[in-house]
Amino acid sequence: MDTNVEFYANRNSDNSASWNPSSERIGEGKYKYVQKGHYDNGNECAVKFLKSGTTFSSTCFLDDVKNAEAALPYISKFHDYVRQAFPSHAGHIAIKLNMPAVWSQSTEGTNFGQNCLVEPFVPNFQKFNSNSGAADATAAVAQALSHFSYHVSDGRELVCDLQGGRDGRNYVLSDVVIMSADKKYGNTDLGLPGIENFCANHVCGPFCSSHWKTWSNAKRRYQPVMSTTITLDVASIPTPLSNREYQRVFASDIMFTQSSIKNQFQDGKTLLQTAKELARQDIKKSDIPMITVVRVNGTVLRSLDNRRLAVFRLLEMANKIHKIKVEVVPLERVREEFNRKWDGGSGDSIQVRQGNYVIGRTELSTNFPGLAEIKNTYPSEQPTDAALTIFLGTLTDE
Ligand SMILES: [Zn+2]
Repeated sequence: MDTNVEFYANRNSDNSASWNPSSERIGEGKYKYVQKGHYDNGNECAVKFLKSGTTFSSTCFLDDVKNAEAALPYISKFHDYVRQAFPSHAGHIAIKLNMPAVWSQSTEGTNFGQNCLVEPFVPNFQKFNSNSGAADATAAVAQALSHFSYHVSDGRELVCDLQGGRDGRNYVLSDVVIMSADKKYGNTDLGLPGIENFCANHVCGPFCSSHWKTWSNAKRRYQPVMSTTITLDVASIPTPLSNREYQRVFASDIMFTQSSIKNQFQDGKTLLQTAKELARQDIKKSDIPMITVVRVNGTVLRSLDNRRLAVFRLLEMANKIHKIKVEVVPLERVREEFNRKWDGGSGDSIQVRQGNYVIGRTELSTNFPGLAEIKNTYPSEQPTDAALTIFLGTLTDE
C-alpha cells in the first residue's frame, strides 16, 4: 500500500487480544455492541459483536474493513488539500483512521467462535456526522472531509458516518461509512439516494472549498439521525418533507433573476456544449426535477440557476424538450441568494456576456448562434435517472 496513505492508518500490529466477555458494554447500537479489551502488547482495544437476533451475518464485519481501507486514500488526499488551501493550519489539522480487523473469539463462553471486529480503543468517542446527513457543525474539519470525498470522487462516493475521538482539529476516526453510486460498500451504503440526502443536509463550513462540486437541488430523502442507518432500516424511515412542491412548466415561462450570464458553467463547459449534451439524451419523458424555482409575488416563477435556465430555454426553442419538471422552493429558503442576484428586471431574457448574445423566451427574441446546432442534435442515449441527476448536478452557476 502507498506509504503516504498508510501514514493515516491507526493500526495495532498485534494479532491477538483478550477481553472479559462479561465486562460492561462501552457502546451499543441497534445491531452491534462494543466491549473494551487489551491487545497482547497492553494497548486498549474495542471489540465489537453483533447483537443476538440480528438478521444479517457477521460477514458484515468484512465490510467494515473494506470501508476503512477505501476511506484511507480520501483522508490522505484531504491532507494534501489542507496543506495547499490552509498552509498555516497544515500542521494543526490531522485525521487518522482506525483500521479494524475481523477476528473470532477463541475462548469458551458467550460468543465463542463468533466473529468480532477489533480495533484500537478511542477515548471520548463521539459522532461528527452520519450517513443520513446529521452533522455536528462544530466539527468543521470532519464535515469538510465528507464534502471533499464527494468532490474528488466526482460525486460517485461520499465518506461519512465520521465518528471517533477529537482533540480540537485532530481526529482519530473509526467505523466510517462510504456511500457509493454503485452501492458497493455493504449494508450501510445507502447509494445515490443516501449521497443526495447527505448533500441536501450538508452546510459548507470554513474548511470546505467553494470550488468543490455540489449537488444542486439535492432532495432530502431521509430524516437525519446521528445513529448509523443501514439499508434494512431505510424502508422504515419516515420520509419527511414530502411537502415539496413540483410542477411541470415550460422553460419559457420561468423568468431569470439576472440580466446577464457567463457563457460557461463552473466546470468550463459552455452553454452550447451543455445544451447539445442534453439534446443527445432523451430527457423528454424524464421525471427528474430539472431546475429549482421560486414563486415571486404569488405567480411569477423565477430561477436562481440562470445559466441552467438559459440552456433549457434553448432546448425548448430547438424542440428538444416540452414542459420540464421543476421544484418550487419557498422564497424564504433562498432569500439571501435571491436578493443578491435579482436586479429587479423582468427576467424575460438574458444576455450572454461573451459574444453579446441574447436568449429570450422565443426564437424571435433570441440571437444565440448555436441554436441551429442544438436543433441538429438528436437523442442517441436513454439516460438513467441517476446519470441524469449526476449530470444536472454539474450544472452549477457559481
Ligand atoms: Zn461543504
